[in-house]
Order: sequence, then C-alpha cells, then structure tokens
Amino acid sequence: MTSILRGLSIVRVATAWISVFRGVGQPFERVERPIPEPGPGEAVVALDLSTLCGSDLHTLRGRRHGPVPTILGHEGVGRVVAIGEGKESSWLGRRVSWTLTDSCGACRPCAAWGIPQKCINLLKYGHAPLTASGGLHGCYASHLTLRKGTHLVEVPAALPDAVAAPANCALATMVAVAESLPPPGDMAVVQGAGLLGLYGCALLRMAGWPTVFVVDHQPQRLTAVPRFGGTPVLAADSSPIPRDEVDVVVEVCGSAHAIPEGLRWLRPGGHYALAGLVHPDSALSLTGESLIRKCLTLRGFHNYAPRHLMSAINFLDRHRDTHPWESLVSPPMPLSRLEEAFALAESGRWCRVAVTAREP
Ligand SMILES: [Zn+2]
Ligand SMILES: [Zn+2]
Repeated sequence: MTSILRGLSIVRVATAWISVFRGVGQPFERVERPIPEPGPGEAVVALDLSTLCGSDLHTLRGRRHGPVPTILGHEGVGRVVAIGEGKESSWLGRRVSWTLTDSCGACRPCAAWGIPQKCINLLKYGHAPLTASGGLHGCYASHLTLRKGTHLVEVPAALPDAVAAPANCALATMVAVAESLPPPGDMAVVQGAGLLGLYGCALLRMAGWPTVFVVDHQPQRLTAVPRFGGTPVLAADSSPIPRDEVDVVVEVCGSAHAIPEGLRWLRPGGHYALAGLVHPDSALSLTGESLIRKCLTLRGFHNYAPRHLMSAINFLDRHRDTHPWESLVSPPMPLSRLEEAFALAESGRWCRVAVTAREP
C-alpha cells in the first residue's frame, strides 16, 4: 500500500508493480519492486490510467529500437503520492499530467534554443532503461517517478482519466504544431485520421479555421472526423480538396507517399507541418523547386515544450463538453493483461487502449 504523509518533503511508499519489456517477442514480465525515495525535486505518481501510444506498438514489434529492459508507456494520469526535497509540497495529492520528456534546463537546446524536448541530457518516459535513476520511468506500472526537470500540470477534476491520459503525448504535440501555424485562412488539410489527426482537426477548428479536411486511407478511421469538426476525405478520392488553394497541410499519417500530394494542394506561400514521419522509412520524393517556386514553409515537429502541455490540458477543460473525447479511448483493461491490450490496440478498434494497475 502507498501511504501519504502530508507536510513532509520525503514520503515513504512501499512497492510498485511494473511490466518489464525485455525485447521483441518476449512476454511482459510482471515484477514487484520497491519504490525508491524520490530524489531532490522528484515526484512519485500513483498511476490511475495509462494509454497505449502507437510508438509503443512500434517498439513492441521491433520497428523502433530502444534500451531494454525497460518499462514502456509514457501517456498517463495519476496522483502525486511522494515528493523529494525541494519539490513544492502542494503537489502532494494532486492529480497530474507531466511532460513526456525530462530536460536539464541548462543546455543550449533548453536554455538558448527553446526546444527542451531536444535537451542533450534528455530522459524520455517509457523509453528509459530500467537502470536509469531508480528505474520507474514508464507508465505500464502502478507508479512512476518524475524527475526534477519534468514539468507537472494539474488535471482539472472534471476531466475523466481517459480524456486526460493521452494529453501529454498526442495532444500536446498537436498543440505545438497548431501554435506554429499562421492565423486561420480558408482551409487546412490534416493527413491522417488517428488520434493526432483528430486532435489536430479539433484544435484547428477551435482556432478559427472554417474548413479542415481530414484525409485517410481507411474509411472506418474517417467516421469520427465530423464529430471533431472536420470534413472527411478518403485518400483514394481526394478530389474535394482543391489544388493550389490550401493554406496549411499537417502530416500525421506517417507515410512519405502522402507528401507530394500535400505539396500539390498547398497554395503559394503555404505551410507544411510534418509530425508523423518519425521512422526511418520516411525518404521524401520532392524537388527543391517544388518548395521554392511556391514559396512554401516546411517544418518538422517532435514532441513539445512544457507550455504546450499546459495549453493541451486547458484546451480539453474548455472543450470537454463539445467533443466526444472519451469515445476515442477504450474502457480500461487490467495492466496484468498488457499483451491483450496491445492486441486490441493493433486491431484499430480504438484510437487509444487504456490500461490500469488499479485492479479489482
Ligand atoms: Zn505517445
Ligand atoms: Zn537540457
């Protein structure tokens, strides 16, 4: 059992359950281990709900490589049950989301370039070796240790766990994309109708874009698009999207083949945001001339800064009744059935499958 001793800077907690990933093709290993006392500035979170991100599917199937053994999982929501010296005691007991990267705050990416997600001393939750500073740095567990350079954001009580859990990855990333775009024009296109695409669509519509086309190859993935304010377009017949007239294209489909078509849609002076091509099979077929003659801006996005997570949680709170956010996430499965949860995630039935260590 976890105990909370309010008013103390260091709180003793007992043990955590973790699901250890040892490599492709190996079953998750359920292990009980002591929760280390939080170090200076650290916080221990008891996880209420975690969601399975597509990047974890890639790791599980060997399409993405990371250190093992590890605890996968970086999307989640939980309550602060212990804090280390120097961490404000008011965090104790609060329900929180957190930046999925821990940054040092002092290196050039952090301090000079404004991209702490590219910190040279970065730790990324769900991608850290089990041997790293206490080891509890993944969300497929009962507890998570957040390091000193991780930004915490309180989650309003009205936001259900399933709505809040994916905010610290998919939504905050799309907030970073949306922030970079020019003011609303006539029309935008989002390539990909997964969770990133639906979030992107909602963000653009709420920012004032009158028309947002959302393109996908799979008809079933397009069914949710109108509920998030978008106009669904099947990739096999993209004729509703006018050539040379689109102000902004946002790629979150992960397919390099989509880029030439996006370039054809863009108007002169248009913006192309790439956020989904985070894998090696992403060679682009385009000419410099196609960028230059249309005076295009092309920009890549990977993760986000703390302010984007704050905006993401605020956005969900403001619009919690206007969009069916909860419909995107499965009912929670027990963490002990993580393999089944991954199989369900691969079926595409849900944008996110949820797991919880709080078993009945
Ligand atoms: Zn993620
Ligand atoms: Zn840094």
